[in-house]
Amino acid sequence: MQYETRFCPHCATALAPMAQLEDSGEKVRLRCPSCGWTHWNNPTPVLAAIVEVDGKVLLARNAAWPPKMYALITGFMEAGESPQEGIAREIKEETNLDAEAISLVGAYEFLRMNQVIIAYHVHARGTVRLSAELLDYKMVALQDLKCWPAGTGYALADWLRTRGHVPVFFTPEENAERRRGLEERKDGS
Ligand SMILES: [Zn+2]
Repeated sequence: MQYETRFCPHCATALAPMAQLEDSGEKVRLRCPSCGWTHWNNPTPVLAAIVEVDGKVLLARNAAWPPKMYALITGFMEAGESPQEGIAREIKEETNLDAEAISLVGAYEFLRMNQVIIAYHVHARGTVRLSAELLDYKMVALQDLKCWPAGTGYALADWLRTRGHVPVFFTPEENAERRRGLEERKDGS
């Protein structure tokens, strides 16, 4: 579920939309009338990985997803880690694979969830053992990968271009079929 910030995390007063002069001019935001705390509502960073093992890309299916939906490994950054450490941790936790070489693909918006996706390409090795969160995975050859019209799908497309492939996107019908039955997720996949 998505939570809404309604009370000041500092003093528990109910927040109210209040105008205040900021660098960009007067701006109405949820603020605390008692202590002045401002709810900035900055986007949350989400890490994503195009995991490549022996020349193929691992796509995984979350236990909560419909049968045809496979996507990149994703997860939230944790306090105290770098993005590179975070994506290596997520890959280990979710697939048991060890990240060997990590390179940035790019940063992508996910406005609907107020997230920013930081996407990496990761060469990995080891034996796949899925976490309870994931139900299934498949290893896909680069020429067989299809991209989806969302942040992580655009990352996959950009990376495929760097490898000399012209990315192929799901048609709108295919994508609707792929997402059929999907409930909203919290982490940008
Ligand atoms: Zn307050």
